[in-house]
Amino acid sequence: MSGLFGAVTKGDCAETLLYGTDYHSHLGTEIGGLATLGDHFSRVIHDISQSQFKSKFAHEYQAMPGPAGIGVISDSNPQPILISSRFGDFALVSAGLIENAQEIYRELLSQGDTFSELHRGGPNPTELLAKIIAHGRDLVDGIEYAFEKIEGSISLLALTREGIYAARDRLGRTPLLIGERQGEFAVASETCAFPNLGFKTIKILRPGEIVLLSPSGAQAHSDGNHRSQVCAFLWIYTGHPASSYEGISVEMVRNRSGRAMARRDHVQADLVAGVPDSGTGHAIGYAMESKLPYCRPLVKYTPGYGRSYTPPSQEIRDHVAKMKLIAIEEISQGQRIILCEDSIVRGTQLKNLTVQKLKGAGAQEIHIRPACPPLMFPCKFALSTRSIEELAARRAIRALEGSDLADITPYLDERTEKFSKMVDWIAEDLGVTSLRYQTLDDMIAAIGLSRDKLCLYCWTGEE
Ligand code: SF4
Repeated sequence: MSGLFGAVTKGDCAETLLYGTDYHSHLGTEIGGLATLGDHFSRVIHDISQSQFKSKFAHEYQAMPGPAGIGVISDSNPQPILISSRFGDFALVSAGLIENAQEIYRELLSQGDTFSELHRGGPNPTELLAKIIAHGRDLVDGIEYAFEKIEGSISLLALTREGIYAARDRLGRTPLLIGERQGEFAVASETCAFPNLGFKTIKILRPGEIVLLSPSGAQAHSDGNHRSQVCAFLWIYTGHPASSYEGISVEMVRNRSGRAMARRDHVQADLVAGVPDSGTGHAIGYAMESKLPYCRPLVKYTPGYGRSYTPPSQEIRDHVAKMKLIAIEEISQGQRIILCEDSIVRGTQLKNLTVQKLKGAGAQEIHIRPACPPLMFPCKFALSTRSIEELAARRAIRALEGSDLADITPYLDERTEKFSKMVDWIAEDLGVTSLRYQTLDDMIAAIGLSRDKLCLYCWTGEE
């Protein structure tokens, strides 16, 4: 995952840029980068795997002059990229995945292009994107050309002498929103970056839309298209609770999702809890609907620990998960706990850490309620990091069938016996009293967009 932020201000933008980018820290834990444009480009990139974005850039940002700038928090590659092209110099940040990167890379090499920012044994995806764009007649033409050429999903910000070009990927999987603050403008992946900096959302980019942000406002350069496939997982897990996408609040979706789970549930329990942070909104909704008390038998020790989902290695993810959650014995002892979780990916952290901590604190029963159906397919668009082998549901199917299945259709339907057996297998593996997944229909209803406007590939395998 990655988060993008850009600002065009009346004076130097660096302080706004620093905080606006920092508000995307929940989307990545590996690399942070800023670029500003005054008389010339200034650029700083840091490894943020061992310290927070803000502290890494706290002093350097003051030496980055210019009224326009872009920033990124990334789990994938060093950026911003600075590049010279026939239509001028620009700095580029991007979020998403180029599925056919190797094919395009070889094609560009054969045409004489060169690459200087190799990353993890291949081209740096943002540099590859910059090179594709540079083949256009101008920047907008280059972005449109890149959108046509790329299979996958890419949103980007390009910092130029004219201002910041913001382009949302052609199916809108990753959002981009424009904010205004008294004649100054910002663009963000997450609207949680806006309120404390004084920005109000004035525009949500459509899929494929390209807008130029300059001191005179937000000027449309390409209308985009009407087909949309917004990532449903943004509302369920990856997005910040204070954000909204397509005008729909993340926290309110989570509340509705929890309410829906409670309406279908008949389990006897003493309290409702959420696995912090993203399970919290679902749990509050569940508690409101069920009239059971919402309590916190598990709390997160926030300082110094990021998300246990974003680091690239399983070892680091497990370490973060182990250290950050603390069980409270006085609340857990002897209790029948409904524990809302955003999703079950591998199930290993839930089993080895969360459930064990609650049991160790004396919980009598643990009823897990994930806010989405079983994850069956790994994300193809770089919005999550899992692989098919490690998904808990796939492990269950493998165990029940004796091998991997080419066709898992019966396991996708919650009304089938196979689905029930799969859920029972996962519950037993987790060592919990019961497990009941959110239904696909209830998840979609909680988001409030029609099914054809959402990417549901994680659950259905359909693009
Ligand atoms: S595959 Fe899943 S995580 Fe990826 S964009 Fe689609 S819904 Fe989001």
